[in-house]
Amino acid sequence: MSPPAASAVRDRLRIAIQKSGRLGEPSRALLTACGLDFRESRDRLFCYGETLPIDLLLVRDDDIPGLLADGVCDLGIVGRNVLAEQSAEREASGLAEVARELRALGFGGCRLDIAVPDEWEWTGPEQFAGRRIATSYPHLVRAWLSEQGVQADVVVLSGSVEIAPRLGQADAICDLVSSGATLAANQLKAVQTLLRSEAVLAGPTRAFADARADLMALLLRRMDGVMRLRDSRLLMFQAQPDAVSRLLQLLPDAEAPTVMRVDGQDTLALQALCHGAMTWQRLEELRGAGARGLMVLPVERTLA
Ligand code: ATP
Ligand code: ZN
Repeated sequence: MSPPAASAVRDRLRIAIQKSGRLGEPSRALLTACGLDFRESRDRLFCYGETLPIDLLLVRDDDIPGLLADGVCDLGIVGRNVLAEQSAEREASGLAEVARELRALGFGGCRLDIAVPDEWEWTGPEQFAGRRIATSYPHLVRAWLSEQGVQADVVVLSGSVEIAPRLGQADAICDLVSSGATLAANQLKAVQTLLRSEAVLAGPTRAFADARADLMALLLRRMDGVMRLRDSRLLMFQAQPDAVSRLLQLLPDAEAPTVMRVDGQDTLALQALCHGAMTWQRLEELRGAGARGLMVLPVERTLA
């Protein structure tokens, strides 16, 4: 497969996702939930879209911003941390931004944190003056240091950043943290968050001028539908008219409810799409406020 030039007119959309690793599976699951279906090639790098003209390229996450920049791929699912670091790198080299975050996708959550040895008494960023910070995110760290007006050395490491202080390679580190267990195991503590990250859909800064524009709009519409439904349930119940305003106060996450009169009675029947988790505790509270016949139903699909 030879990649067409960025400017070539194309009638299929190509999405780059991580081949394996933390984002691979959830990325595919999201695209599948959007109704995409793929036939894998023998080398497992390219997946041909069967139901829609949308194909996948399975790559290393670090390659995704570059593939977007080169026009080899049209969209990518990548950690905000990777996108931000490579954007900062382009900016430092005076290159224009070519990929931007279109949607946050709600998985792969982590933070890019600066961590120092446990025994440090943390007083603030000026403590890094003249010190060494080991990281795989040199451009984000340099940008942060210059914002703080602090001069420090950035030691670039591609892996095992957390052991750098013990090896004497650096005084502090800046790395991705999710649970904090890796930091604790290395006698480090997080003192500053540079970036809150999650998987994002990255795409072009300029609109497509060919069939890809409609394909992208369709995909975004479906993705928004899937994301909106993540925790959503249809809630149905009955109540007396004077209880309704109190009940709706307990449902701040509900879309405008449908209110119907139960045939031949004063009782009202309500149904509302709720976006927050519908726990037993919430149902008990609603019951206490006058709701009866509570029913929680899964929602398969919505389309705005
Ligand atoms: P590849 O082989 O594709 O280069 P990788 O080893 O660079 O894989 P992973 O470790 O799978 O990548 O991480 C991919 C992304 O998952 C990260 O860029 C980040 O956005 C996210 N992530 C979430 N939690 C963590 C974590 N605790 N550590 C590292 N990455 C995390
Ligand atoms: Zn990687």
